Amino acid sequence: MYTDLKDQLTAELTEIEEAGTFKHERVITTPQSGRVMAGPVGRDGTEVLNFCANNYLGLADHPDIVSAAKQALDERGFGMASVRFICGTQDLHLRLEQAVTDFLGTEDTILFSSCFDANGAVFGPLFGAEDAIISDELNHASLIDGIRLSKAARFRYRNADLEDLRAQLEAVAALRDGKGARRTVIVTDGVFSMDGYLAPLEGICDLAEEFGALVMVDDSHAVGFMGATGAGTPEHFGVSDRIDIYTGTFGKALGGASGGYVSGRREIVAMLRQKGRPYLFSNSLAPSIVAATLTALELVEGSAELRGTLFRNAELFRRRMSEEGFELLPGEHAIVPVMFGDAALAGRIADAMLEHGVYVTAFSYPVVPQGKARIRVQLSAAHTEQDVEAAVQAFVASRAAVQEG
Ligand SMILES: *Cc1c(COP(=O)(O)O)cnc(C)c1O
Repeated sequence: MYTDLKDQLTAELTEIEEAGTFKHERVITTPQSGRVMAGPVGRDGTEVLNFCANNYLGLADHPDIVSAAKQALDERGFGMASVRFICGTQDLHLRLEQAVTDFLGTEDTILFSSCFDANGAVFGPLFGAEDAIISDELNHASLIDGIRLSKAARFRYRNADLEDLRAQLEAVAALRDGKGARRTVIVTDGVFSMDGYLAPLEGICDLAEEFGALVMVDDSHAVGFMGATGAGTPEHFGVSDRIDIYTGTFGKALGGASGGYVSGRREIVAMLRQKGRPYLFSNSLAPSIVAATLTALELVEGSAELRGTLFRNAELFRRRMSEEGFELLPGEHAIVPVMFGDAALAGRIADAMLEHGVYVTAFSYPVVPQGKARIRVQLSAAHTEQDVEAAVQAFVASRAAVQEG
């Protein structure tokens, strides 16, 4: 009987709408890029500058990547109609796994349909009831969910707080009458997506060494552009060889289509091929996506130019916004939170920004702490200096419009 549930859901949806937290989608009718046609559902879009995509390197519509996808469609077909271990592995999948391994400097890599799946796969097979998982409180939802799928004891430390991490490691050491856990893993995002802050990986690795723990980094918001060669936050901090497990996405800087991976120690990856449930029970990545992502990796490896453009844009935006008197969270990442505090104010500014031709998104409680509402701006190598200045001018004009209105 659907009737009761229908009424309950309708009431709940109305509550969400009335709380002002309903997620209304905008429709884009162009490729993802620095500039898109976008508008509300059912209405014509207008051309806007896009400052809220994870398209850090501007590769989402890169012609070489698009043509690699087309070529793979012609030569390898549309889909695999199988999971990897039955009949879903093409040479392309192995080539991409090897390319990620080489790029990150790890021992082996296993592909998933998404990083969400990678994080869902990794904990169950490796950590059981005798083990402990220590997780940063601001870790991505997919890590939180993935950790729940394991029977390990769960510990949480305050965001990027090494003192609290030490306290949790001590709590783990006290488990089982002081015998501690069989295996302990410290899990962190490389970059925390609401703040653009980097995880303190050196300190984390030091503590891991002291307590005999493993380290896992989900580098989705860094792979492709942080670090000297784009290998991510471990490279940025010079701790690449101290990370046991990397996860990451192809859905952000690396072309932005879809797919994710677990990379790291050989035996860990080998075990996930045997027991990782999203690997065993979910379809292989489509050949066109695999081939195009290979091209994306080649582009990233072959040139520091895109990374240079991205960070110049981020620096320019941070400097100009500060000059115009906006409060930013400090940092170097291409995620730049513009702080407004009040949720309604941040929302009104974001709406006004769209009127001024700039697409940005406001975030408020519970996604960020109460009273810390913000507009999260994301820079891209697809933006020109003029685009960045246009975004700054749109913030100035929107602030004035909202203050007057
Ligand atoms: C975006 C993101 C994911 C999800 O990646 P998908 O490939 O889109 O599933 C996982 N972890 C982190 C830290 C992310 O930022």
